[in-house]
Amino acid sequence: MNAPHTRTRYADPLQAPGTEERLWRAWRGWTALPEARLPRGGRVVVAAAHPDDEVLGFGGAISLLAGAGSDLTVVAVTDGEGSHPAARAVTPAAMARRRAEERRAALRELGAPDAGIVRLGVPDTRVARHERAVARALAPLLPGAALLAAPWTGDVHSDHEATGRAARAAAARAGVRCLLYPVWLWHWARPGDPRVPWEEAARIDLPPEARGRKAAAVARFVSQTEPLGPAPEEAAILPPEEIAHHLRDVEVVFP
Ligand SMILES: [Zn+2]
Repeated sequence: MNAPHTRTRYADPLQAPGTEERLWRAWRGWTALPEARLPRGGRVVVAAAHPDDEVLGFGGAISLLAGAGSDLTVVAVTDGEGSHPAARAVTPAAMARRRAEERRAALRELGAPDAGIVRLGVPDTRVARHERAVARALAPLLPGAALLAAPWTGDVHSDHEATGRAARAAAARAGVRCLLYPVWLWHWARPGDPRVPWEEAARIDLPPEARGRKAAAVARFVSQTEPLGPAPEEAAILPPEEIAHHLRDVEVVFP
C-alpha cells in the first residue's frame, strides 16, 4: 500500500483522515454493482505495486481463484522498501526482505502457497518512471492467461496508478482480460463519490471462508499494521480504521 503518514498537513488526499468504514457498509449502492465473474482454473497473473496491495484489494478473489485451481503468479513491481522512508528502526533492504516474507505467509493464508512470485525490482515510489518497463516485463507472462489483475488506475497513488496503466496496456496487447482493483479508494472517496466511475465497477462477493482467509492474510503484514517504533515516522501504514475497509465481504474491480 505505502502512504505518507504525516497527519498534520493534507495536501495529499491520502494524508487526510479517511472515510469511516461504517459509511461504506451502510451504502445502498452496493446492490447496483454487477457481479464480476472470475475464471474457473487457468493461469492468473496478479500485479502489485507493493507487497500487500494484492491482498488488500484482491485477496478474497485470490483465495477464490486458488480454490478453483487457478495457477497464480504474483508480479511484485516494487519490493515496498520505501514504506517508512524516515524510519531509522529498519533499513530499506531489511524492509524489502520483511515484506517479501509477509507476502509469502499471506499467500499461504489465502490457500495459494504455490503461487509464483516474479520480482521486478522497480524502486518504490518510482513506478511511473518505469511504466513501459513494467508493461514489457508483464508481456511474457500473459499469453494464454485467463486474467490479469492489477491496482486501479484511479487509485490516487502514483505507484498503483502506473502499475494499473502498465497492466492495462500489456493486457490489451496480449488480448487478455484485465481487472483493476482499488486499494486507497476506500480511504479518499465517499459512498457514491462522483469521482469514481461506479457505472463501470463490479463486485466480487466473498463467502465466509474467503473472507476469513483474507483477514488472516492481511494480518500477516505486521510491518504495515503495527508501528515500527514510537516515533511519528514509524507509525503504522495500515491502522485499524484503514484495515477495516479491506475486511468486508465484498471486493470491487474496474475493467
Ligand atoms: Zn501499495
